[in-house]
Amino acid sequence: FKMKKKQSRQSLVTNTQRALEHFDLHYKPVYKDLWPSMRIALLTAKKTCAIMNNFAQDDKFNKHFYELGAIDIIHNAVNKQLQDIKSKTPTNIEQIERKFVNQNIDNQFDELTDDSDDELLDTTEREKANVLTEEERMNIDRTNLYSFVPTKTVYSENESLRLEESRKSVYTPMDVKVDIIKPRKINIPTDLSVMSFPKGDVQNFPSPKLDIPHGVLCHFMLDAASILPVIALDLDKGDNVLDLCAAPGGKTLTILQTGLPGSLTCNDISGSRINRLLNILHSYIPQEDREHVNIHSKAGSYFTDPIFDKVLVDVPCSTDRHSLLVDDNNLFNPNRINERIELPKLQKELLIAGIKSCRPGGCVVYSTCSLSAAQNDGVIQDTIDDLWRTTSIDIVVEDLSEMTQLFNDFYRFYNECRFGQLVLPSLSSNYGPMYFSRLRRVG
Ligand code: SAM
Repeated sequence: FKMKKKQSRQSLVTNTQRALEHFDLHYKPVYKDLWPSMRIALLTAKKTCAIMNNFAQDDKFNKHFYELGAIDIIHNAVNKQLQDIKSKTPTNIEQIERKFVNQNIDNQFDELTDDSDDELLDTTEREKANVLTEEERMNIDRTNLYSFVPTKTVYSENESLRLEESRKSVYTPMDVKVDIIKPRKINIPTDLSVMSFPKGDVQNFPSPKLDIPHGVLCHFMLDAASILPVIALDLDKGDNVLDLCAAPGGKTLTILQTGLPGSLTCNDISGSRINRLLNILHSYIPQEDREHVNIHSKAGSYFTDPIFDKVLVDVPCSTDRHSLLVDDNNLFNPNRINERIELPKLQKELLIAGIKSCRPGGCVVYSTCSLSAAQNDGVIQDTIDDLWRTTSIDIVVEDLSEMTQLFNDFYRFYNECRFGQLVLPSLSSNYGPMYFSRLRRVG
């Protein structure tokens, strides 16, 4: 009788209910007071942004979206970055920094401080000639945007041992030193245009329309949190980019809209999902531009050659929002328990493949749409741990908190992750969840 009762309960409980029970059990103790509002947001219709298609020439939708009250997230972030620069006193330090800052910001900064050019030339020329004053040299040391500044050390149980010996030689499973470094200023891709309604505004964008002369759709709707891993890639013009788990292609399309990659390689193990990616590319990118995109359908671990400047590893995960809303093909189906438990292992395997495919000096962004610490920080820690133990590859985690400050008008960020940033769903800004972390390969 008890068995029957158990069986009937099993058939009555849906997969989405199982997911909710699981999240209540595991997320409530982590997110504490934040959990009730996150929970209700996850169970409510999500918000989408509109990525404007640069390959369509019809900009009437862009204007229409502004009239509806939408704001361009990218434009807003660039302005914040400019304000940040402007708010600092224009001393010699900043004039020296300027030559390192990306071209777009430079051009706009020039307009703000057009009287400082002569002095800048003077200083940089003197820097080249190695005749800086002592004061100027000290200022460069303090502010050099490219210097790696360790800001935090974690998991170092035996501090004195760590200091005495090199990082690798002190390795034990519980004594891994991870440097979290402050990166140079992020290169915001200014050709990307992402329209979003402000926090608290729950309007929807209309369905995308065809730009008839060019045969492509005018905008693409996406959870705006998905653009953040792409921005975190810090793309430079001409970069050779790998999108290791690319399908169905929202982030691939975002990468292409930046106009920055010199080449883009997309991979996904699933043939049917690769077909969805191809459909998106056909709908948004003209044929001549699609030719620069290489498509593969292989297991991610196939990629090991260190040839890419930037690698996106957007791994399969517990897809929390989806698991709460859609019963079919749900990871919380009891038949899929092993697959779910094995997720962190697969995620680590994919991240290791991504890091191996990245050239020394390049960077890898790891992302999930899960709130699970085991799939987020846990995978980063395990991966670093594994690489230090088994390879000569050296990596550092880059601190992305300055980047997220530029975007916090549109997203709610969680500040407690160790190795990355996390977008928390909330009713006023119902994007995410999205965790992203950037690793730089330094050797
Ligand atoms: N980046 C995609 C986007 O923005 O549209 C979403 C990627 S989705 C979160 C994860 C993808 O990883 C799935 O499409 C899945 O088919 C793929 N995947 C799962 N296991 C894989 C493996 N071993 N190698 C490569 N891709 C894999």
